[in-house]
Amino acid sequence: MTSRDYYEILGVPRDASLDEIKAAFRRLARQYHPDVSDAPDAEEKFKEINEAYGVLSDPEKRARYDRYGRAGLGDLGGMPDFTMDFADLFEELFGSFGFGVGRRARRRTPRRGRDLQMEVELTFEEAVFGVEKEVEFQRDETCATCGGSGAEPGTSPSRCATCGGSGEIRQVRQTFLGSLVQTSTCPTCGGSGEVISTPCHTCKGKGLERKTVRKRVRIPAGVDTGTQVRLPGEGQPGIYGGPNGDMYLLLRVRPHKFFRRRDDDILLNLDINVAQAALGAEVEVPTVDGSEKLRIPAGTQPGKVFRLKGKGVPHLRRNGRGDQLVIVNVEIPTKLTREQRELFEKLAATLGTSPRPKDKGFLDWLNEALGG
Ligand SMILES: [Zn+2]
Ligand SMILES: [Zn+2]
Repeated sequence: MTSRDYYEILGVPRDASLDEIKAAFRRLARQYHPDVSDAPDAEEKFKEINEAYGVLSDPEKRARYDRYGRAGLGDLGGMPDFTMDFADLFEELFGSFGFGVGRRARRRTPRRGRDLQMEVELTFEEAVFGVEKEVEFQRDETCATCGGSGAEPGTSPSRCATCGGSGEIRQVRQTFLGSLVQTSTCPTCGGSGEVISTPCHTCKGKGLERKTVRKRVRIPAGVDTGTQVRLPGEGQPGIYGGPNGDMYLLLRVRPHKFFRRRDDDILLNLDINVAQAALGAEVEVPTVDGSEKLRIPAGTQPGKVFRLKGKGVPHLRRNGRGDQLVIVNVEIPTKLTREQRELFEKLAATLGTSPRPKDKGFLDWLNEALGG
């Protein structure tokens, strides 16, 4: 039994109507049914979805779940109540047949093609402002020579002699409960019920051809490493007329020479010199929009952060932009000219000689500094 929240599993709000719950279940069941999905955890997911639906579609169980959580279900647990309209669902999933018809009908079941994924690398600026990219990837397409049948044009697949075209082998076993019919997939035809005696010369009977696909893709502004862009229908082809899978572009953003990102804010470390920090200055700072004037007030301390409003990364799914944060570092000169040395000595004389601990919170400061 799953430990996840049932509403979360179905992806519906807690006040979802029965229709909404039904729709969510159908959508997920279609996606994760083990006969349809290639995902390794499809079966687990499918069970979870069933369990959640079994509870949330039953007003009484749902009320108990809402009030007491899983504990409120007691022995009923989340065991799905299979009186629900499963037959409808299966018809929808696999075409018009019920339980018990078995593989004979299923072999021509339309199946959705597999999803594909590829990594796409972007520069920092491309991620900030968006870009149109040409991506190139390999996927299978229905063989143009044989139209996907796998048989050489002019020939057609013949009925499998082993299973007689049913795609399955039935064995009747006598048990103390009576005779038990056991069915298994036909090893000769792999369940398709047909064998190809003259395979297509282009695809060698697979019905598919490996193709290199080039696509121009619009990457929106504001993406970051880990953002996925879905190209619907650009994955592996569907089987028996099923829809194609999708292609997912997994984005990776190359680090920038001096900008860093924190969500939609851009961080920049800026070195200023001692005089600029003490006297104040107007400096030019780079932003993704070009250089900007920044006024450093007199007496600026190291570590001071200045915020350039709206100079950050555009928000991906809403209007507006983040900010640029300029973190000031005060550079202490390591080499002095004779003249600079003299000036610093004069300055030193006016500042006094002995360093003193910060009078307030010095120990805190020290601990913090040592503890990183
Ligand atoms: Zn072919
Ligand atoms: Zn067969």
